[in-house]
Order: sequence, then structure tokens, then C-alpha cells
Amino acid sequence: MSMETLFTKIISGAIPSDKVYEDDEFCAFKDINPAAPVHVLLVPKKVIPEIGAAAECDEGLLGRLLLTANKVAEQLGIAESGFRYIINSGAHGGQEVPHLHLHIIGGRQLGWPPG
Ligand code: 5GP
Repeated sequence: MSMETLFTKIISGAIPSDKVYEDDEFCAFKDINPAAPVHVLLVPKKVIPEIGAAAECDEGLLGRLLLTANKVAEQLGIAESGFRYIINSGAHGGQEVPHLHLHIIGGRQLGWPPG
């Protein structure tokens, strides 16, 4: 039985979202509480609860996650100006949704270090 998460419900359309990209393996949609003018979540359809739970068999998926993020960043018009990819993990990492996702953030100058 596959695990259901907030993001599987968004991917299936049970919860509405503003999708910007979808293929067989990934879905990307706008964050409901954007931290910047562009803030999209890129989510593998396979439920991996957190990055530390990824297995050796996820090696290809993790590579394609980054390459797909590049494609989405290009599509969103932030490839040239620059952007940030973020994967939060666990309590101290500030992860709220236990389904691996990559934040794609851009559209303004971002500060460093993050809060
Ligand atoms: P995390 O903190 O787990 O790395 O990121 C979870 C993200 O999901 C947050 O930035 C939050 O704003 C976003 N989020 C939470 N609930 C929803 C929702 O129902 N729809 C969308 N589009 N984003 C959500």
C-alpha cells in the first residue's frame, strides 16, 4: 500500500494547487506560502519521507530531481538571474511535510545565511 501525504493529495488533484510542471516521476506546484516571487515545490511522486530515508535504489531519482529542477527553473524564468534549491529535513531543518520535496526559490536577491 502506498503512503498518502499532503503532497500525494496535491499530485492526484484531490487538493487543488497551481501546478507548473508534471511528468511521470515528478510534479511541481507553487508553494501556498511563498518566500519569494518564485517559490515552487518539486516533488517526486514516489513517497520518500525525508532525504535521509532515500535508498541506493533512489540514486537515479535524486539525480533526475536536480536535472528536473533545472528544467523548471528555466521554465519559470529564473535560470539566468539565479535561484536557490532547498531540501529541509527533520525538526531542526524545518521540514513540515514528510514527503521529500525540493524548494525552488528565486525572483529576488536572496540572503545568506538562511534563518
Ligand atoms: P517544508 O517545510 O516541509 O520543507 O515545506 C513544506 C512547504 O509546503 C511549505 O513551504 C508550505 O508553505 C507548503 N505547503 C504546505 N501546505 C501546502 C498546500 O496545501 N499547498 C501548497 N501548494 N503548499 C503547501
